[in-house]
Amino acid sequence: MAKVTMDKLVSLCKRRGFVFPSSEIYGGFNGVWDYGPLGVELRNNVKQAWWRDYVYGRTDIVGLDAGILASPRVWEASGHLQNFTDPLVECRNCHNRFRADQIDLAKNCPVCGLKDWTDIRQFNTMFKTFVGPVEGDASVAYLRPETCQAIFTNFRLVQQAMRRKLPFGIAQIGKAFRNEITTGNFIFRLRELEQMELEYFVRPGEDVAAFEEWLQTSLNWLLKYGVRREMLDFYEHPDEDRAFYSKRTVDIMYDFPFGKSELQGVANRTDYDLTQHTRASGEELDYFEEETKEHVVPYVIEPSIGVDRAMLVFLLEAYDEEPDKEGLRTVMRFHPRLAPVKVAVLPLVRRDEALVELSQRIYRALRGEMLVLYDETAAVGRRYRRQDEIGTPWCVTVDSQSLQDGTVTVRDRDSMAQDRIPADGLLEEIQRRLRAPWQRPQS
Ligand code: ATP
Repeated sequence: MAKVTMDKLVSLCKRRGFVFPSSEIYGGFNGVWDYGPLGVELRNNVKQAWWRDYVYGRTDIVGLDAGILASPRVWEASGHLQNFTDPLVECRNCHNRFRADQIDLAKNCPVCGLKDWTDIRQFNTMFKTFVGPVEGDASVAYLRPETCQAIFTNFRLVQQAMRRKLPFGIAQIGKAFRNEITTGNFIFRLRELEQMELEYFVRPGEDVAAFEEWLQTSLNWLLKYGVRREMLDFYEHPDEDRAFYSKRTVDIMYDFPFGKSELQGVANRTDYDLTQHTRASGEELDYFEEETKEHVVPYVIEPSIGVDRAMLVFLLEAYDEEPDKEGLRTVMRFHPRLAPVKVAVLPLVRRDEALVELSQRIYRALRGEMLVLYDETAAVGRRYRRQDEIGTPWCVTVDSQSLQDGTVTVRDRDSMAQDRIPADGLLEEIQRRLRAPWQRPQS
């Protein structure tokens, strides 16, 4: 594996249509990135992989898609209005602001070099907006800073609609907004982000074991899609800096080029949220145990991972370079199910009408089933390199033999092996390969 740097990755992502800086023509906009044609595919594939494994792959989890806006009473009850804050400090000289827990206040300001700090104050990172035509205190609403609160407010509706018994989980993928004091490291820390969150409800007393299970399950999910074990680590939050609602929090850390940082959090939120919402709304958010005729307030284990942060990890893990005849071959070794483009169809020569026609037919037969590209410009070696750089797992080459016997060559991105197979079995062959387990090639 070649060493990947953030610069190399950011530049590839822009050049090949994965991630663009927001509002670039107006000088940019901090904390927001736009996903280009290949970025949106990678993103959808990451979300789909997560949803498939948890919501379809298991019998004990159901889905939800709630609004980004909600009654402000939700945030009052959950404690976010009070506590969803970061410590803010400002340099009196240059007026730059920093998270006080992320810089050394004994040192000078990293921007202007002077040392004149304000006192630390708590800054609430929820975005405020107004609902309806009147701007005033009565119409204030908040963009959700995490997706999970709607899982709690809808707990009973979901449980009853789906006739669920404990233990069971509710999964949700969606945007969240945090007015982070400082953003940066590409798509690592954003103001507009997306989360994949799962709240797993258990009987009190079963939470400790469930927590261990979810830690392992979350780790295995990352390994399944190609993240190397040695790049991951656990960080146990000590009592004093755990979130106010949590009995235990462990972060799954990834060794980013800018240092080990949180990729995913797993928290034991206890019965805190359901209890708070019951108190504030007057609606009982509990569970009636038929067998014992008892009402219980479930405990909840929350594995929460950012879509953008997961994408960054999959991009970093995929990046590889190796020397070749033309200098350097850059290959994005995505797990095939995450790869934005699954197949590229390449006619060997552009001037042969019959070849182009057959290639177009093959291309059309695959399209609609998956994202397929067609490329007839430049030498075939160059075209392979273009596909390698965006991580396309298979290139299908159509040549003169194809016209005679109806076979095509499938070239594998990782092994570079070329297999001849009948064109009319191509779709099934690609689908078979997509279903197969994948392993990163040994380097
Ligand atoms: P931090 O302390 O670094 O601000 P956090 O502990 O508040 O983060 P959580 O509330 O646990 O983060 O969020 C769950 C997951 O959502 C994180 O593990 C991360 O993957 C993702 N996430 C959180 N904040 C951001 C952000 N600003 N940009 C991108 N992803 C984020």
